[in-house]
Amino acid sequence: MESRVTRDKKNGRFKRIIQQWSLDNFDDGYVRDGRFVVYSPNHHRANSQGSALRAILAYEVHYNDIATPDYCIHHIDGNKLNDSKENLQKISLGEHTRLHCKKPEIECICITCNKKFYLPQWRLNQGRGRFCSPKCGRIHPNTVEKRRKTLKQNRRNCI
Ligand SMILES: [Zn+2]
Ligand SMILES: [Zn+2]
Repeated sequence: MESRVTRDKKNGRFKRIIQQWSLDNFDDGYVRDGRFVVYSPNHHRANSQGSALRAILAYEVHYNDIATPDYCIHHIDGNKLNDSKENLQKISLGEHTRLHCKKPEIECICITCNKKFYLPQWRLNQGRGRFCSPKCGRIHPNTVEKRRKTLKQNRRNCI
């Protein structure tokens, strides 16, 4: 953040004057939590220190629109530091959370019926992903064989 130092006329102390953000001093700011923060004390979304996210300010200037707090500025390419015009998109808070929580699904092929199906990674980690449905799991030859064996064993145990 570019700042100038001047002397306070009343008490003679030095004080820092930070330039307010605009498109002309686009890179005047710093990175906090992976986002670019700039100084703009009069902005409607500035915090008590007068700083705000550059993505919001840049979006508003570029698109002549207001991003109220129920909206987020989403970075289309996934790079939160790329606040260029084409990379900014205004979406509602709920939609934004959904967008970021959606995990890509993995393509699986059922070993019983060879049908393609999709599962999220966490289901695969649980050992799913072999059968497209519980029914296909029950009728697969391996399952049938296993069931037959345990049945036999149980019968033997009973005698
Ligand atoms: Zn986003
Ligand atoms: Zn199947």
